[in-house]
Amino acid sequence: MKVGIIAIHVDCFRRGDHHRGIMQPQIGPLIASLLPSGVDVEIINDTWRDPDWSRDYDLLFISSLHPDFDRARQVSHYWRQRGAKTVYGGTFASTYPHLCRPFFDSIVVGDAEGSVPLLFEDFCHGRLEPIYVSGAYNPESTPTPRVELLAEQIRFPLCLEATRGCPFSCDFCALTAAGTRFHMRSPETVIRDVKRMREQLKGLAPAPMLQILTFSDNNLGGNLVYLNRLCELLTPLNLRWGAALTFNVVANRELVKKMAQSGCRLLFVGLETFNPEALKDMGKFQNVIEKTRGVIDHCLEQGILIESGLMINPVTDDARYLRRIPDYLHESHLFMPNFLCFEAPIPGTPCFDRLASSEQPTLMPNAMLRDFNGYSLVIRPQRESAENLINAYEWLRGEIYSTSARLRKLAHDMPVLLSNKRWATAFVDAMHAFGPRLSPHPDRTHIPETDIPPPEATQVPFTNADFDSEEQRRAILDPCPVTDAAGRVLPAWRSSIKVFEHKGVISRAARSLVAMGATTS
Ligand code: SF4
Repeated sequence: MKVGIIAIHVDCFRRGDHHRGIMQPQIGPLIASLLPSGVDVEIINDTWRDPDWSRDYDLLFISSLHPDFDRARQVSHYWRQRGAKTVYGGTFASTYPHLCRPFFDSIVVGDAEGSVPLLFEDFCHGRLEPIYVSGAYNPESTPTPRVELLAEQIRFPLCLEATRGCPFSCDFCALTAAGTRFHMRSPETVIRDVKRMREQLKGLAPAPMLQILTFSDNNLGGNLVYLNRLCELLTPLNLRWGAALTFNVVANRELVKKMAQSGCRLLFVGLETFNPEALKDMGKFQNVIEKTRGVIDHCLEQGILIESGLMINPVTDDARYLRRIPDYLHESHLFMPNFLCFEAPIPGTPCFDRLASSEQPTLMPNAMLRDFNGYSLVIRPQRESAENLINAYEWLRGEIYSTSARLRKLAHDMPVLLSNKRWATAFVDAMHAFGPRLSPHPDRTHIPETDIPPPEATQVPFTNADFDSEEQRRAILDPCPVTDAAGRVLPAWRSSIKVFEHKGVISRAARSLVAMGATTS
């Protein structure tokens, strides 16, 4: 039996490029660890390489972000036509199972850990169910991910999840759409897994790579006591590690010192904006803009590089604000954000529901699900014309990634890092400042109605024999619409499911799927 696991990727810049950055999807090693040993498993991170279209699979697990759903259902159809059963999971599958169901043999609602073992057993007995709803997440029952299956595809294969979810409820976040919850695996279990993964990877990855650990958590700092203890246990391993966490964590000077002593060298923090009104609109109350510079400087002194992205909020931001951002970046000592995108109301989030329920159209006309990836203007701008906002966005991109901006960053960071003998951080900083910077395809308009399609939209090698009818071809190949010609949300998008209730209990709405014929474990 051959099992495939594909983490779907569509280049958000619409160049059709792979994204071979530090953070790579980790769903493959997790699902593989939930299958019985001895099963022939292949993991494909679409971010790294295209699937091999000549392969045969008996069972294919597919996961994707919301905007990559078009490719996910194309990939599913392609391999269903070739005899495979396909399973779709992830936040989109969990929150909109009714929209996903027609395109896959089975949908997983909730966590893989609480569904995949039963699903696989059912598949082996020829009784695969259309929907599986996971049981509550048990942090201690998660097996060590089989990272050795990805060793050839990613640069830093030592990658692990210590926590799941996030205690915050930012308005725009896909985690909030599925339901706020935060689970911690015991620090001892995490350390056990780090050691096991190093064993798995011996001989498969260069030894220096086994000294670098990336945490794939959405927010490693959701509980400060927990993070403190984790740092204590990480220290003797002499690793260099990085993670994503929230501003309140890096504002804690003692904890920053402890993280640095335990080997932390890189942190991604969601600063999002310099506009207090936008922060309030996003519900991101843990950020304090006035403290940003002091926090970034302190982290740098400790040898920790802070990375962050910026979002443009079309409701609160105007072109004047965008033109001031280079000064804010300079004053805050962030200098260069990792990305600059538009806030995209991911379907199912409070932000989306609020905009969708407005009497006036609040979104752009004829927006497709593929446009909800941060690089299309999906929310109708309130203080500026769409054209002005996009012109200002393009000007800003040019400014913040200019050679002079890169040099300014290094001129600030290097004296601090080198005088404190922070060699590893200095190296990462230089790579970050002068590494290749991905940018949108030059023909992009960033407006849904006129933008160019992603090249991946026509990349799956279908033949005419793959479709029974023109209707079926269109259902598989046409992009998935979210708004109508006036910018109103289509009715199908108004009924998402919140999967988790307080403390991660499976919600009544998700459990009611069971009453409708879904299976739970
Ligand atoms: S802090 Fe980050 S991970 Fe947590 S809800 Fe907000 S955006 Fe999502």
